[in-house]
Amino acid sequence: MSEPKDFPIIGKDALKREVKDLSVVSWWGVDRKEIEWYPTIDHDKCAGCGLCFVTCGRRVFDFDKQLSKPVVKYKYNCLVGCQTCANLCPTNAITFPDVSIMKKLVAKNNVVKKSFEIIAPIIGCEDNLSSKETESDFNK
Ligand code: SF4
Ligand code: SF4
Repeated sequence: MSEPKDFPIIGKDALKREVKDLSVVSWWGVDRKEIEWYPTIDHDKCAGCGLCFVTCGRRVFDFDKQLSKPVVKYKYNCLVGCQTCANLCPTNAITFPDVSIMKKLVAKNNVVKKSFEIIAPIIGCEDNLSSKETESDFNK
């Protein structure tokens, strides 16, 4: 899995913070733009506190001054599997797809096996990887 070292800069947000295009980073070999994992804001519920916008380090949100609320501007910058902003939101205005899509992605792309291969030198079990051949082994 090779990733670019320098991410393209695609703009600045309402706080004049630089926004990088993190959608160029694949997820375990899968094109990030093929994975529909990102937040949705219910503006009827949103209090406009800005907590999601301020705290997301990946600049998924920008802040709409007219609306006085955040908007999801760079959805594929969202870290696949992350739900931090939803957990922090005081009014539960942020939702994500059902986590079952993550489980399916992990299984379909042999992510657990790939992870074992990466950490094998640390845990010293390179010879035992064959005993964990498929994702289904971990879902039993
Ligand atoms: S954290 Fe929730 S309430 Fe606050 S701005 Fe974001 S969506 Fe709105
Ligand atoms: S889930 Fe994480 S990466 Fe995605 S928008 Fe929320 S805080 Fe940012």
